[in-house]
Amino acid sequence: MDQPRDTSSVIEITPSAPVTTADHGWRAKCLQRLIRMDLPVPRSFAISAAAVRGIASGRMLARGDLDRLIAAAGGLVGVRPSALNPEWGGPGTVLNVGINAACHARLAQRLGVDAADALYRGFVQSYAIHVARLDPDMFSEPDATLADALAAYRDETDEDFPQDPARQLAEVLRSMARAWDGPSARLLRQAKGAPADASLGLVVQDMALALGPGVTGSGTIQFIDSVTGAPGITGRFQGQTQGRAMLADAVTLYLTRDPRGPSLEETAPGVFADLVRFGVAARERLREEMQIEFVVADSELSIIDATRVQRSSRAAVRIAVALGRDGIIPTDEAVMRVQPRALSDLLHHQVDPRAPRDLITRGMAASPGAATGRIVFTAAAAQAAAARGEPCVLVRRETVPEDIRGMHASVAVLTERGGMTSHAAVIARGLGLPCIVGASGISIDARARTLTAGARSFREGEEITIDGTSGEVLAGAAAMLEPALDDAFNQLLEWADAACTIAVRANADTPEDARTARMFAAQGIGLCRTEHMFFDEKRLPAMREMIFADRPEDRRLALDRLLPMQRDDFTTLFQIMDGLPVTIRLFDPPLHEFLPHDREGMRELAETLDLPLSDVVRRVDALSEFNPMLGMRGVRLGIVIPEIYEMQARAIFEAAVAAGRKGEGVVAEIMIPLVSAMREVELVRHQIEGVAASVRQETRTRFDYRLGVMVETPRAALRAGDIAEHCAFLSFGTNDLTQMTYGLSRDDAGRFMGSYVAQGVYAEDPFHILDQEGVGELILTGVKRARARKPGITLSVCGEHGGNPESIAFCLHAGVDYVSCSPFRVPIARLAGAQESIRALRAAQACEGLKAGS
Ligand code: PEP
Ligand code: MG
Repeated sequence: MDQPRDTSSVIEITPSAPVTTADHGWRAKCLQRLIRMDLPVPRSFAISAAAVRGIASGRMLARGDLDRLIAAAGGLVGVRPSALNPEWGGPGTVLNVGINAACHARLAQRLGVDAADALYRGFVQSYAIHVARLDPDMFSEPDATLADALAAYRDETDEDFPQDPARQLAEVLRSMARAWDGPSARLLRQAKGAPADASLGLVVQDMALALGPGVTGSGTIQFIDSVTGAPGITGRFQGQTQGRAMLADAVTLYLTRDPRGPSLEETAPGVFADLVRFGVAARERLREEMQIEFVVADSELSIIDATRVQRSSRAAVRIAVALGRDGIIPTDEAVMRVQPRALSDLLHHQVDPRAPRDLITRGMAASPGAATGRIVFTAAAAQAAAARGEPCVLVRRETVPEDIRGMHASVAVLTERGGMTSHAAVIARGLGLPCIVGASGISIDARARTLTAGARSFREGEEITIDGTSGEVLAGAAAMLEPALDDAFNQLLEWADAACTIAVRANADTPEDARTARMFAAQGIGLCRTEHMFFDEKRLPAMREMIFADRPEDRRLALDRLLPMQRDDFTTLFQIMDGLPVTIRLFDPPLHEFLPHDREGMRELAETLDLPLSDVVRRVDALSEFNPMLGMRGVRLGIVIPEIYEMQARAIFEAAVAAGRKGEGVVAEIMIPLVSAMREVELVRHQIEGVAASVRQETRTRFDYRLGVMVETPRAALRAGDIAEHCAFLSFGTNDLTQMTYGLSRDDAGRFMGSYVAQGVYAEDPFHILDQEGVGELILTGVKRARARKPGITLSVCGEHGGNPESIAFCLHAGVDYVSCSPFRVPIARLAGAQESIRALRAAQACEGLKAGS
């Protein structure tokens, strides 16, 4: 028969006591598990969260309960917080509650005067600071005697130190309950994901005293390294020390044998062996890697607490995989244990968290990883540095397409302006370069070649470190951790893939990107931005010639020079992807991006094209637009200047034939950008079909391709039904879709985004995390209308959100077939997709269970 549920405020934690995490917090529950394992845990009591709420609002426990707690413990107790989730923290532990003059006298007889004094003094100090809220400086004097502490308490409060143990306990409980409700504690835990009404339980535990004769002291032990996750015992044992209480002969011992000094293993081998045994058992029973807190009193061991081991990202992966492999947790559970974002720490170099950091300034963490290099202010200087073999950091006010070669030559990028989808951010993520954007605390003097941040100034050539994971710019070279694409990383992702119900592709423009995509097991290329290919030194002249041509036949001549190069680009991509789908997006940006912007550049161009400078200036002027991102770009160019798309389509088809001949399976997908009307698709489709027919005839080869449309204008999302009729797939370009839904420039939003988010206008930067309410509604509408018209249509998201865990969860529920993101975010997307799939499965199973039970 079920035991009646004990809802009283205070219950002793026994193997069968009705302790629950929901009612009493994680610590109380964890202690119960340790007690069930028969570990030597001192007698412990749980005070329920409901009772703690009552205490905070003035309803103290009954005198009988207080006396029971103190008496049961033989006079001395420690009080610890027990929140629902250990990550939410809580008020600090208070030890040795209940000590008074009489108890002090008894302890002096049992443990010696010094130990009794230290314990009493330690409690007076804690009580004065945390309970009576007296000035900590008055009680932090290390040489103060017990008499000094008692006198200081009397002076400050005009009363003697309270001698009634029950009153001491009541005051400690009240102060801890109220501290939990304080505004700073609330903010701190909410930042860690706690709900506004998160509650606190408390644990009152019999003190195991760590001062006294023999091998006596307190310590912690864990069985893995918190930074690397490698197996190995770490921790410490401090003889004659318990919190603030410490004797003159306090000594720190290594846990295991160590040439540098004495160890617990040698001093108390039995205790050490028990600790190891308990550690192994705790890991299995608690299904987690634990840090165990213990006390040794004259060689007698007590386990007073166990907490989840603090861990770095790489340690988190190793721990989860080891628990999964040892059969302690199911593999799905291992997948759920690692934060997807944490994986990016393993993909890149990372500033060693143990090393000192000389912070210069902060910006937006736009692309993760860390690198050290010498400052350069131009793309040309970056290329020169790379040619000398010197790692360099490209520092720019903002980057423009011409900087791409400089970015390739750099180890990291720092910009004063820009947001999460600005040029620098998108390209750096694609290249896997650490990048910080919107570092508005710096100012760049390109002439003087200096970078200033507050009172500090740095010249070109000086070394800095970019921590793109935290957004911190550091002076000099920081100590680094190597990437950890090890066996544990691969195993975790293998388990993730088995659970994941949404596919993940990569946005890849270059062979290097494509190789990275394959290395991270992307299921294809979801977006190849072809325009980046035209910024190449060899191609730019032909591109400019094409732009300057007035007649279609002259444009074709220039494009004919680009055709073989594009064909080679695509052939290589098809070969690398070896049968996986490759989605090639036709030309998208406004043409003026390919033209020089300064007089010098225009003069050089006039020379190359053999035209008067005035013609070049006129042409550049003619192409300039008030709102280029809303102007002649994307499919609009394809319709007004059809030769560009014709050349690209031909290059794609000829590449498909060439790669097919070499034996690689080819799945070519052509995607039309910035569509807003169905007729645009009809026109381009017709044009592409014509090119396909010609290439089939010329090469006498059959090939298939799929035509798709990017949904990146709100109108395309609304008209997705019509558009779906004319294509095989739709891909939501959520960067532009966000820009156009909000009417918010991708490149300028960084200037005020911080202040908008800080004031709660936007919950998050919508270029970073998909805005589910607005942009999301357009996606849902698009998905519904497209599927209603063409049920088998393939749907995807290829904006930067495709690599963001929260956004991926949304995509999965929206019924999107795949997301596509920067190659270095593919592992994160695979894990995020897997976790959401597991959550959805568990929810469905729970629902089934409910139905079956009802
Ligand atoms: C988009 O707009 O979401 C997209 C993927 O295209 P781009 O970032 O190249 O504009
Ligand atoms: Mg776009």
